[in-house]
Amino acid sequence: MEKKQVYEFLEENRAVFNDVSDHVWDYAETAFQEFKSMDCICETLERFGFSVEEGVAEIPTAFVGTWGSGYPVIGFLGEFDALSGLSQEAGAAERKPVCAGGNGHGCGHNILGAGSLAAAVAFKEYMERSGKQGTVKYFGCPGEEGGSGKAFMARGGVFDGVDIALTWHPANFNTVADNGFLANYQVLYKFKGRAAHAAAAPQNGRSALDAVELMNVGVQFLREHVEQEARIHYAITDAGGFSPNVVQPKAEVLYLIRAPKMEQVEDIYQRINKIAKGMAMATETEVEIEFIKSCANMLPNRTLSAVLYQNLLAAPPIVYSGEDLALGRALDATLTNMPNLETGTSVTEAEAEVLEAKMAGQALFTEVLPFDPKRDIKVAPGSSDVGDVSWNVPTAQIGVTCWTVKSSAHTWQTVSIGRSEVAHKGLIYAAQVMAGAAVDLLEDDSLIKAAKEEYTRRLNGKKYVCPIPDDVKPRAISEL
Ligand SMILES: [Zn+2]
Repeated sequence: MEKKQVYEFLEENRAVFNDVSDHVWDYAETAFQEFKSMDCICETLERFGFSVEEGVAEIPTAFVGTWGSGYPVIGFLGEFDALSGLSQEAGAAERKPVCAGGNGHGCGHNILGAGSLAAAVAFKEYMERSGKQGTVKYFGCPGEEGGSGKAFMARGGVFDGVDIALTWHPANFNTVADNGFLANYQVLYKFKGRAAHAAAAPQNGRSALDAVELMNVGVQFLREHVEQEARIHYAITDAGGFSPNVVQPKAEVLYLIRAPKMEQVEDIYQRINKIAKGMAMATETEVEIEFIKSCANMLPNRTLSAVLYQNLLAAPPIVYSGEDLALGRALDATLTNMPNLETGTSVTEAEAEVLEAKMAGQALFTEVLPFDPKRDIKVAPGSSDVGDVSWNVPTAQIGVTCWTVKSSAHTWQTVSIGRSEVAHKGLIYAAQVMAGAAVDLLEDDSLIKAAKEEYTRRLNGKKYVCPIPDDVKPRAISEL
């Protein structure tokens, strides 16, 4: 079997994988509740001869599909969780929820999960027909959105013994995604005070809400004294009730702390804890600090990125129909922002200018962004739990056009396009690129060795330590 036949296999079976993507889009299940989505992907894995283990790392919706045996073990990472509040009719060019307040696939994880599945199945076909030794694994990674499912899976040792991990994400353009990401911690601060009549007996009240407000002020002052790239966000998840005439006996604030390195996040976290405890003391309330989850920063692997780049150029380019372009244009007409190519990709300022001018005239952009492994690695201002995998296994990823040029993730526009032929075509192309890269790795072991050497060099003697305490379990949104 040649790589060309891998591409053809995916073209011939496109309906199978597009159906999985559409079903997962329909289910639109949020973090750690993705039971139907999991069943749909697992059934397809089994249909193609994979053995499936569900509930890995004690997470009910985490699973691993395996085919083959022995070295090399090549893994594909799939996600399938949706976002709350983003319900949206497929293919509509205006905001139109399917059900008010419902969930929607605003980050395209339905396409992501099905695309990685398609890559795993196509690569398995290649291995089977060529008679080469090796193992292909599909990692069903739940709860990416706000849940860091992969960090819990890494803590549980799910990625141990894997030689290479490949993944992708729907995007506005085709690119190697070799940027770093910020590490993060998510922590809940729960304050407990004492209720009292706010007018008749204010001297008896100890306000938990005051403590939350003072803590936030304290953190504002901290912001001047952290790394330039650090980000500290918060949401008041419980303001203590709806009655101003009751001194609030409880209040909660959820913090998301980000920085380029894990140790920087840990340092900021310890300082925020001091502020929380200080404000609890000042207001005579109590604070309970609950660690929710963390994400490691991303260790890029340029050896693997270069293999993916060659395959982005080699796979048959996406060709859109008039209908695809019409949907793209209609959605883009509702948007104004152009993507910022300079953050999150390795293009130079001059290249970004040329590319952005080209993109301005097109709603769907399929040119592959240039990649040069000699350039400095940029750190994108977001976080991804793929980072936790990258500390355990040489890992690389690509971005593939599934969205219009002006779309950004987590919007109704990306939900709307996520069940269209534009999404389907992106899914198949992403699978062709990833399966093609896996074929190159299988055929040339020196690439795997080089990727491992680079991984060891970037680890620089450090070891992955998951900061999530052992007794902390992944939580669904409704349990937060
Ligand atoms: Zn995403």
